Amino acid sequence: MSTPPRAIGIDIGGTKVAGGLVDEHGQVILRARRDTPHRSTAPRVVEDLIVDVVEELLGGTEDPVVAIGIGAAGFVAADRATVVFAPHLSWRHEPLREALARRVELPVFVDNDANAACWAEWRFGAGQGETHLVMVNLGTGIGGAVMNDGRIQRGRFGIAGEFGHMQVMPGGHRCECGNRGCWEQYASGNALVREARSLVMAQSPLAADLIARVGGDISAITGPIVTEAAEQGDPIAAELLAEIGGWLGIGLANLANAFDPGSFVIGGGVSAAGDLLLNPARESFRRHLAGRGYRPEARIKAAKLRNEAGLVGAADLARAAVVPA
Ligand SMILES: [Zn+2]
Repeated sequence: MSTPPRAIGIDIGGTKVAGGLVDEHGQVILRARRDTPHRSTAPRVVEDLIVDVVEELLGGTEDPVVAIGIGAAGFVAADRATVVFAPHLSWRHEPLREALARRVELPVFVDNDANAACWAEWRFGAGQGETHLVMVNLGTGIGGAVMNDGRIQRGRFGIAGEFGHMQVMPGGHRCECGNRGCWEQYASGNALVREARSLVMAQSPLAADLIARVGGDISAITGPIVTEAAEQGDPIAAELLAEIGGWLGIGLANLANAFDPGSFVIGGGVSAAGDLLLNPARESFRRHLAGRGYRPEARIKAAKLRNEAGLVGAADLARAAVVPA
């Protein structure tokens, strides 16, 4: 029997380009990555890195490769060819597919990174078998995606699923999008770090464990450090995660009103906290759900694929576009 077709997935981050050769079961069988030199996010620099990574992967396999999928953090047009706006890259209306198609002889598809992660969770992870799925990715901000009946809902202009900028607190914390009180100012990794640092800055005796973990250096506090402290029994770190979880549940209750999914899958770095985050989120979700007690409740699940979800999903979406299941 011949080898089923593989696809290459590329995850473009702010400081690196990570690629993988992915098989039909979502397994990454070969990896390549390049750090962005001088943290440059100019389109040409990133394109060169993508081509480099693709060539390395193609050179490392005899298997048939049918397509290249790219997951980018930003607004990607619904035609899956153009990155319209990427806040963390210096890209504005960047025709990425066209630019790459001139340099690699394979079909290229570009997607939003959260769409790619959602697809990966639906195909191979926590969303398997779900007909109506909403993914929420808690990173430095909040990304998201919606799937109905096995299709990503991209919206008319490709921008559906940008849940992070729903306003949950009028007049609240300022957001880089220009508004105040956006959800991602309350329920993201950045929010967790901001709250942990402000607690330490207040010189609260409750923060003794956190202070000790960073040797008194407030700027060294990160999400993973708070999570580790909570897992090792620091009650205030657990409280910080519960607070983020509470805000997460409020946003999910709003999303349930808009999309009525069967499951929410929660991914991104902060989701590594597992039930320390998700149990408070479930509780808050129930408390804020419209018509609670009189409607079926969506399940809130942790993502399974962790940090390779974007890469795996981008590859599998590209393969699905070329080789229909
Ligand atoms: Zn915002």
